[in-house]
Amino acid sequence: MIRKSLLMIPGPIEFDPEVLIELGKPTVSHVAPDFIEIFGNTIEQMRVLFQSPDGQPFLVAGSGTLAMDLAGANLTEPGDRALVVNTGYFGDRFGDILNRYGAEVQHIRGEIGNIPDIQAVEQALEQSSYKLMTITHVDTSTGVLNKVKEFAALGRKYNVLVIVDGVCSLAAEELKMSEWGVDVAFTASQKAVGVPPGLALLVAGPRAMQAFHQRKTPVANYYADWYNWLPVMQAYEARKAAYFGTPAVNLVRALHVSLNQILQEGLAARTARHRRISKVFKSALLALNLEQVPQNPDIAAATMTAPYYPQGIQPAEFLSRVSAEGVVLAGGLHPEIRTKYFRIGHMGSVNIADAITTIAAVESGLALSGYRFEPGAGLSAAMQAYLQS
Ligand code: PMP
Repeated sequence: MIRKSLLMIPGPIEFDPEVLIELGKPTVSHVAPDFIEIFGNTIEQMRVLFQSPDGQPFLVAGSGTLAMDLAGANLTEPGDRALVVNTGYFGDRFGDILNRYGAEVQHIRGEIGNIPDIQAVEQALEQSSYKLMTITHVDTSTGVLNKVKEFAALGRKYNVLVIVDGVCSLAAEELKMSEWGVDVAFTASQKAVGVPPGLALLVAGPRAMQAFHQRKTPVANYYADWYNWLPVMQAYEARKAAYFGTPAVNLVRALHVSLNQILQEGLAARTARHRRISKVFKSALLALNLEQVPQNPDIAAATMTAPYYPQGIQPAEFLSRVSAEGVVLAGGLHPEIRTKYFRIGHMGSVNIADAITTIAAVESGLALSGYRFEPGAGLSAAMQAYLQS
């Protein structure tokens, strides 16, 4: 008998059946009139999702790292200075990417589980002249939610391009690109956007496009070069076909179905639903006396939860016991604490039933691994949090 497990990692996530059905339909030509209409409309929907009415969307086949590469390759020239507001693993990765394109990168790091000090960031911006700064909205290695609005305001004050990695936040956490002064934001399909892995979604605002057009050197990455993709995006939006690299036709159609669902739910309602489910998880873990990596609730993501193991738990054994109960969770990712914590993703169409199933599996895994607690304590706290919110 094959019984499907519940995939509760911070991406890929559980996907809606309508999205999966669309993905499985016969592939059409990328220049078929129906597909041109869908691609064009999807580009328009991206502006709504990113809350960037005057932004230029790019929808390209690849993972979230390609989205980072698109931002890095197109906006960096050798010798540019870049500031990384670093909250973990993905801040380090962004630094590496910018460095690869010739930037001089400075990291301002928060302690593990915290965001960098806002004054330290302002001081750095005051002291030297940066072309761009990057902010990871939710660092998936820690579950820390960054204060994008505050840091972006600093970027504006010092006339620095603000790039937001929204891979683990967009379509679940509030991100108002235009209103907050964010110049580039991006995500990948497999997270809260709700489509299997394979699409990079990026929107570049007017200042970013202007900086791109003012480049003095060619973009040092052929596939990521906006000069190759811009005519394609503009053509599809004008309901014409154009070619640079074959679009991921089935994924784009699946994304169109998912964006229709997301926009029908409404961004504010969707953010509120993610907050509510997140509170359910966080309350359950608190009741089980498991500490969490984010140092306070104010900077804890709504898209995932990152609890430390209690003393004496063997990570591999615990995760396989939870998996045997039918729920797949993720181990640690941040190199300095990798074996000390685990990660639960709760994005997309996640509901209270998924949360309760997951918490039951966590309780079971903890009990079988020798941790002592009142059975049902997490489940009870979860239901209280749910019904009180
Ligand atoms: N940034 C963040 C915040 C992420 O969580 C991830 C993926 N976990 C990435 C970038 C890279 O995305 P991908 O794995 O799809 O390349």
